[in-house]
Amino acid sequence: MQRGSSRRELAARWEEEAVASDKAPAAAEQVLVDAGAAGETERETAEERCKDQARAQPRAAEEGDARVAPRPPPTLRPKPKPAPARGLCPHGNPRSKGSSCKRCSGRRSDQSCTLRPVTVDSSKARTSLDALKISIRQLKWKEFPFGRRSPCDIYWHGVSFHDNDILSGQVNKFPGMTEMVRKITLSRAVRIMQNLFPEEYNFYPRSWILPDEFQLFVAQGRMVKDGDPSWKPTFIVKPDGGCQGDGIYLIKDPSDIRLAGILQSRPAVVQEYICKPLLIDKLKFDIRLYVLLKSLDPLEIYIAKDGLSRFCTEPYQEPNPKNLHHVFMHLTNYSLNIHSSNFVHSDSTSTGSKRTFSSILCRLSSKGVDIKKVWSDIISLVIKTVIALTPELKVFYQSDIPVGRPGPTCFQILGFDILLMKNLKPMLLEVNANPSMRIEHEQELSPGVFENVPSLVDEEVKVAVIRDTLRLMDPLKKKRENQNCKLSSSSLSMASVDILYIDITRRWNSVTLDQRDSGMCLQAFTEACFYLAQRKFKMLPLHEQVASLIDLCEHHLSVLDERRLMCGRSGTSGGRAPYSGPPQEAAPSAPLAEGNPPPCANSAHKLSHSRHTLS
Ligand code: ADP
Repeated sequence: MQRGSSRRELAARWEEEAVASDKAPAAAEQVLVDAGAAGETERETAEERCKDQARAQPRAAEEGDARVAPRPPPTLRPKPKPAPARGLCPHGNPRSKGSSCKRCSGRRSDQSCTLRPVTVDSSKARTSLDALKISIRQLKWKEFPFGRRSPCDIYWHGVSFHDNDILSGQVNKFPGMTEMVRKITLSRAVRIMQNLFPEEYNFYPRSWILPDEFQLFVAQGRMVKDGDPSWKPTFIVKPDGGCQGDGIYLIKDPSDIRLAGILQSRPAVVQEYICKPLLIDKLKFDIRLYVLLKSLDPLEIYIAKDGLSRFCTEPYQEPNPKNLHHVFMHLTNYSLNIHSSNFVHSDSTSTGSKRTFSSILCRLSSKGVDIKKVWSDIISLVIKTVIALTPELKVFYQSDIPVGRPGPTCFQILGFDILLMKNLKPMLLEVNANPSMRIEHEQELSPGVFENVPSLVDEEVKVAVIRDTLRLMDPLKKKRENQNCKLSSSSLSMASVDILYIDITRRWNSVTLDQRDSGMCLQAFTEACFYLAQRKFKMLPLHEQVASLIDLCEHHLSVLDERRLMCGRSGTSGGRAPYSGPPQEAAPSAPLAEGNPPPCANSAHKLSHSRHTLS
């Protein structure tokens, strides 16, 4: 994954191996099975809307965590422990060649066993539970499926920020997100930006809000037509708060809008219909991309490098009065197309009615399409959309979690629905606050008899998204990194530094009179320094070796101090720092740094990272 540290440097790549682009697998066709995802999402969304309206209780006073931590004393290990006997691992269990004790197993030796596992409350995870469980298991973290009396590090909510009353830790929902991505609110937020930056925000179809803007819609339609009589538009009407294609219909003329009754009780968005989508196998498809909003202030966005492509099940034709009502031709919703006899459940991620997005990119690439450009346009669309939503999200955030009050920090996985036009330009259709994370789908075994079966394509994409999100949010990551004294190299493993520490400490403890202090005495520390300096800087005289070692350590400590200072200045993630300026102060979005497209392969779950600082 690329990491952008300045506000102009937008895209970054996972630093973790699972998302490192340099390990991007080679292009490969994949296998797929389809799954039941999208449907559940929207059901949850409606539920969340109700719940989210009940605002959280004001919280008790306290907190402030942006201070610079004192510089650690110069010990080799932050928490010295009594040394176990030779031949034992640091836990005192027998150490045999190539093996480690249970507590050590599965961890790199530099990921100190002294750190407790990250704790995750999954009691409110609902339909994302299966994918979450797998992710937690893969990370060797600790799940609390029924909640926990003491606080957890991370709370995973299936629906809303307000699912739980949380005073600390991190929660995977932002307050107000559901409201912000409703069709009408999203259209309004994007329109503000379209008015300011029409060129930058031309990735969202022209939209009007009904019933309020019906007259405007008619008037503008007429105006365009007067200027260009050959213009024969189609419009799509989408009820606000609707989902799974529910209540959506196409029209050719504004007078076809079903204004009576329904619109009064159920406002809607009417939008220019994109008549020339990119087709694959003659079918229209859309893209579901997963985007992690890691923090509002500074604005940090990660984009999953693989998503899902959901296909229509009837060959596409440009809209005409005869086919306007053909939902299997015009609407890509999984929840609709699953009912078509043409729906294909596939065992491959690159065929069938639901595929990985990377498999689509592979296919396009093989036809000579510049997929770097496609990808960078998508990144740009995502960033600009989030920028459009950010000011109001900050208002929600500050009202729910005022600065100085205890409360969790927030992050959220969003589902972006994107349509590629024939000319490969990505267009935003909508944003989902609760993208389905289900990794199984319903299959009709015999008429009326359904069974949930695992969906490979969903599992492949979604587990990776959740796991990598958890990694990014890992609250102990910094501690783990800080614990690593950065001395390790190919010639000096952290395991050998551990052993050195144990050996020297035990030897000196056995000769010092005062053994009240556990850990290393000064002489032992000096000896260890000399030893490490000799190992690390082989060709120099001893005093230069030691000086180089001290330089190296001081360098790493100052880097740490700088990072802490920066954290102190920018406040905690999740938007707790004071509001730092209007969104237009942000640098214009740049495409993915180095223009790396998502890898075209089955393990392509990398996220790219964009960091904006709005100050
Ligand atoms: P819902 O939340 O009900 O799924 P969407 O906005 O996602 O509503 O629209 C449903 C489907 O309709 C999309 O998946 C897409 O296939 C199609 N669609 C929506 N808006 C447009 C548009 N402006 N042009 C072409 N197709 C569209």
